[in-house]
Amino acid sequence: MKTIGHFVNGMHYDGDSDRISAVFNPATGVQTAAVRLATKAEIDSVVELAASAQTAWGTTPPAKRAQVMFRFRDLLNRHIDELAELLSAEHGKTLADAKGEIARGIEVVEFVCGIPQLLKGEYSGQVAGGVDSYSMRQAVGVVAGITPFNFPAMVPLWMYPVSLACGNAFVLKPSERDPSVVLRIAELLHDAGLPAGLFHVVNGDKEAVDALLDNPQIDAVSFVGSTAIGEYIYARGTANGKRVQALCGAKNHMVIMPDADMNQVVDALMGAGYGSAGERCMAISVAVPVGEDTAERLIEKLTPRIHALNVAPYTDPASDMGPVISKQALERIKGYIAEGEAAGAKLVVDGRGLKLQGYEEGYFLGGCLFDEVTTDMSIYQNEIFGPVVSVVRTGEYEEAVEMINAHEYGNGTAIFTRDGDTARDFCSRVRIGMVGVNVPIPVPVAYHSFGGWKRSLFGDHHIHGMEGVRFNTQLKTMTTRWPSGIRDGAVFNFHTGSDTQA
Ligand code: NAD
Repeated sequence: MKTIGHFVNGMHYDGDSDRISAVFNPATGVQTAAVRLATKAEIDSVVELAASAQTAWGTTPPAKRAQVMFRFRDLLNRHIDELAELLSAEHGKTLADAKGEIARGIEVVEFVCGIPQLLKGEYSGQVAGGVDSYSMRQAVGVVAGITPFNFPAMVPLWMYPVSLACGNAFVLKPSERDPSVVLRIAELLHDAGLPAGLFHVVNGDKEAVDALLDNPQIDAVSFVGSTAIGEYIYARGTANGKRVQALCGAKNHMVIMPDADMNQVVDALMGAGYGSAGERCMAISVAVPVGEDTAERLIEKLTPRIHALNVAPYTDPASDMGPVISKQALERIKGYIAEGEAAGAKLVVDGRGLKLQGYEEGYFLGGCLFDEVTTDMSIYQNEIFGPVVSVVRTGEYEEAVEMINAHEYGNGTAIFTRDGDTARDFCSRVRIGMVGVNVPIPVPVAYHSFGGWKRSLFGDHHIHGMEGVRFNTQLKTMTTRWPSGIRDGAVFNFHTGSDTQA
């Protein structure tokens, strides 16, 4: 059986820990590899390498750092098929979906190819007599990234291209459930000319994460994953004086107004609810039709489409969605379905009986649809992270907005309507970080920033785009006076901009 190690100092490193975690092919349920879980001592020595490499990189001209990103982008594009295959074999998502995720990651690399422009500071001449002021953004130092299983290529790519382009060194601790694609991408980044020492991938679990959070040479931590872990990482990281952004769980609602085009709504909901088996932090998991007639039309059109879903392994090019990530995830999702039924929700489509010939041990679940869900039910309150959509019927638009605003999560939401007034009101009043109007999964493009509100994000900065640049840099502001020959004696009052001694 293959053993997966780490990528340290520009090359593969087996690791010396005897603790391992199993990696499975979710379509077959067969173990394909064992990944080594790094020890605290290994993490500490990797961080040391990163810290010593960062000093020179931080003062390397941004245009030179951008050159690495230009070559990295080309290599990613050239290897996209190979990367998608690696990704799908461990994650289970369809190849088209895997390529889409990698492409969205490449867009972040494209964004940071313009890093000299992004790091440009501000300048004000003559802020007082003979005094000029300017600002610059400098790297924070060594940044750690801790990432989830569901986007094993894209989420790390949200982080380290921005961080490295800004002049930091980066230590990535990816998900131990699908570690292969990120290791291959690390090779490509070094083939692109990144100097050794600046980017390391260490596989691990809580021990590795805690070692990163406690290491005084780590200056900032980017985390993406579940809320329970993100909240812990934020608390421990900030208690240790680090800058932390922790992007977390979600429960994304789609409001369907009576005037919406129902065919468009159903197409959108199929992709957003069941694509990637519902394992996206921006998946729509709650549909909120406004008015009884809207609800009836939605259920009528949606039900046959869910029955027609082609649930199949990624090796089948006609697959709409693959398995969920693990046996435990499958059991957790089935547990929620049982809770929903017990609480009185109506299970309109039950995907639990799905069996695929030749893949009986795979973690497959058919699409599921609940109707008549109420806000006190666990299937409404919690993130299920599987192919399960809940319909919560509302009488009024206002009720829908209140419901979304009251939910503890605030990652994404969407409204489907033909009415500009309603859409505009929704965008303005909804307490959610990313909002779609007739767009079901409003994931911002790379040059905007991704992030939720409420318990979907701990920390102040969203990720990638200019917020990513801000997170990965510190602002420094200079106040300078030339010529140096001026003497005004000791001044004991506080200077103001209207001082004009010169
Ligand atoms: P997870 O929280 O289980 O794992 C995320 C990372 O934390 C992994 O690297 C894991 O090894 C590490 N980790 C797990 N347990 C830990 C512990 N006890 N102590 C320290 N570190 C630990 O998340 P997951 O199951 O891999 O991913 C799914 C979750 O991620 C969902 O909740 C989803 O909504 C969320 N997610 C959020 C976003 C976003 O941008 N908001 C994007 C993608 C995924």
